[in-house]
Amino acid sequence: MTTYPRPVLEEVARTREVVARLHAELPRWGLVVWTAGNVSQRVVVDPRHGPGPEDLLVIKPSGVTYDELTAEAMVVCDLDGNLLEGDRSPSSDTAAHAYVYRNMPEVGGVVHTHSTYATAWAARGEPVPCVLTMMADEFGGDVPVGPFALIGDDSIGRGIVETLRGSRSPAVLMRNHGPFTIGRDAVAAVKAAVMVEEVARTVHIARQLGPTVPIDQNHIDSLYARYQNVYGQNLTEDRS
Ligand SMILES: [Zn+2]
Repeated sequence: MTTYPRPVLEEVARTREVVARLHAELPRWGLVVWTAGNVSQRVVVDPRHGPGPEDLLVIKPSGVTYDELTAEAMVVCDLDGNLLEGDRSPSSDTAAHAYVYRNMPEVGGVVHTHSTYATAWAARGEPVPCVLTMMADEFGGDVPVGPFALIGDDSIGRGIVETLRGSRSPAVLMRNHGPFTIGRDAVAAVKAAVMVEEVARTVHIARQLGPTVPIDQNHIDSLYARYQNVYGQNLTEDRS
């Protein structure tokens, strides 16, 4: 890291603070247990600043409790997931985060949890149907299911990218695993992680009471367009 010029190092330091602070949101919203779950954010490296034009990412280290997640504890990797700076190994999900950043340049933040209700839908391999106006707002339709993928190579990242590229949704339920969410920055990705758990829970409860009522596609489209125009916090206009 010492070869990076000062503006890059300052941005890395700022991103460490942001990512550490956002990790506290995961237990706060009840999305994680023990050391599961992770947040990352891209550090944009201006090619004029060298040594290379490739961006960096800041992510949680592996196996550290949420109480220990200070800015100093965060680790910095290149977009191949190689550790550049940090005392500990990067999260075991770093390869998946890095694959998303390499293949979706508009994405600036990625979050992964095993939040209970979203993961329950992933266990059934069933998309969460768009039966709430807030789902039309936030996800622009159903929350899709991605393929089954084993940890250890690019297969999780590939599944996330293949599923979300053709979708308005910033969240994918990786089958038998759990949700991954994306955003233009880590704040937006954390918001999507909170929202996907909320709608998974609500639609699950609705299902216990009886059949749910679909929303007409034209209504979904207009709700989504209005919400994205007003709040514009998702990436999805560019991708759908
Ligand atoms: Zn996982």
